[in-house]
Amino acid sequence: MSSTLFGPDDAPDEAALPEPPAPEGPGLFGDAPPLAPVAPQAVASPAPPPVAAVPAATPYRVLARKYRPSNFEELIGQDALVRTLRNAFAQNRVAHAFMLTGVRGVGKTTTARIIARALNCIGPDGKGGPTPEPCGVCPECLAILADRHPDVQELDAASNNGIDDVRELRERLRYRPAQGRFKVIILDEVHMMSTAAFNALLKTLEEPPAQVKFMLATTELRKVPATILSRCQTFHLKRVPQAELRAHFTRIAGLEAVTIEPEALAMLARAADGSVRDGLSLLDQAIALGGPDNAVTTEAVRDMLGLADRAMVLELMEALMAGDTATALGLLERAHERGADPAVVLQDLLELTHTLTRLRSVPSLKDDPSLTE
Ligand SMILES: [Zn+2]
Repeated sequence: MSSTLFGPDDAPDEAALPEPPAPEGPGLFGDAPPLAPVAPQAVASPAPPPVAAVPAATPYRVLARKYRPSNFEELIGQDALVRTLRNAFAQNRVAHAFMLTGVRGVGKTTTARIIARALNCIGPDGKGGPTPEPCGVCPECLAILADRHPDVQELDAASNNGIDDVRELRERLRYRPAQGRFKVIILDEVHMMSTAAFNALLKTLEEPPAQVKFMLATTELRKVPATILSRCQTFHLKRVPQAELRAHFTRIAGLEAVTIEPEALAMLARAADGSVRDGLSLLDQAIALGGPDNAVTTEAVRDMLGLADRAMVLELMEALMAGDTATALGLLERAHERGADPAVVLQDLLELTHTLTRLRSVPSLKDDPSLTE
């Protein structure tokens, strides 16, 4: 064994073989996937030596994860949902099965987890009951926050979509909660389940064990059988409005001590298309463009998004409406040279057409704050 310490040639020896898995450990279990934003942090850290230790010691967490809401208060853009859920908890009338639907990244599983905490929270003194304001400090709240509560299970229905998976789940539900007040089963992308699996699940939804709550989430509600839907309380999570996304991103940029030009934040909010998670991934990328001074320009974000200049899109539209093909092609060529994606330019033109049409048919929309230009 000691020989491996001295001779590098000994590395492939039998004795050394069991060791390699160790260095891989942190990669497998670490919080942060090896995303692009990690690199600039690592590059930036050697510059200010005193600070360098902090980013090195703390594994980088993507913004969407770092700023994931942990209570209803922090959930943005879903006021109706939050109000209904708060009332349900206040009146102690929490349904046993929820269906959360909406486009990706609007907070479906985040909401499910907040409900799981609200159901299981025992309060700082350990005596509290289910509450619309989970304390965030009791052992139940902490365990759910850290994804290690034995009674709160999140399953991806895309990979657990067979009847055997549902049977196994039903078997587990026969037992009382191990630690918490309720067993909470979060089934994400539930529309991916097979018909047989849905039928098996239906039986459980019809006669749910008293201490079990189901949180079903889907991006495609129409693929979920009506028999399932009729046994769930359904919530439609809305696309988060641009203004709210922009405010949210501005707040986070501030917390991350990053300076981003307001127009750049507006672009990110627009590109997020109502999805908080998509927007935060873009913000991660944008912050990576900032360099050591942590300042992100509109120009950099525009290039990153492959966006054409707004002014250029207007010019292009004018040329098109005037039938000036030469100018239109010239503008497109220049945008292309600058890295704009032609498909995105087309998308921008479509949006502009839509906006202009709306303004024309409903002139009062001029005062709508979401129409920035
Ligand atoms: Zn708590």
